[in-house]
This record gives sequence, structure tokens and C-alpha cells, in this order.
Amino acid sequence: MDEKYFEMAAKQEEMQRKQAIEDHKNRLKETPLIRGGARICKDCEGAIPFERVQRNPEVVRCVPCQEDHEMKGRQYGR
Ligand SMILES: [Zn+2]
Repeated sequence: MDEKYFEMAAKQEEMQRKQAIEDHKNRLKETPLIRGGARICKDCEGAIPFERVQRNPEVVRCVPCQEDHEMKGRQYGR
């Protein structure tokens, strides 16, 4: 084995690591539920106010469910 081989292997490993991080990010991203043209909450299936969606296009939950979700996330994160 020569140096070039190691260099190539290292580059490949780095690429794979970056790809794994990207995959992880994509999995974390939640797909919003849409019913009848309106965005609905993933947890309670209540409509999310349009204003909230405009402010945060990636929102998938109504305010109380989002707060609940974030609180749980913090607890489990410990
Ligand atoms: Zn909800």
C-alpha cells in the first residue's frame, strides 16, 4: 500500500461521514401534514393557524403540542 491509497481512503471516509450527517438531518426533518389545503398538527390533528405557518414554514405542530414536544425532547435529551 502506498500513500496515495491512504489519502484516497481517508477522503472516501470523510465523504461517507458527511453523507451520514446529511442523512441524519433529513430524517430529523418532519414532513408537515396537510388536509384540505390547511396544515394540521401532527399530534392532535388540529389546524395550525396560517399565520404560524407563514412565520415558520417548517412547523408541523400547533403551539401547545410543539411546546409539549420540545419539553419532552429536553427531558429525554438528558
Ligand atoms: Zn396539536
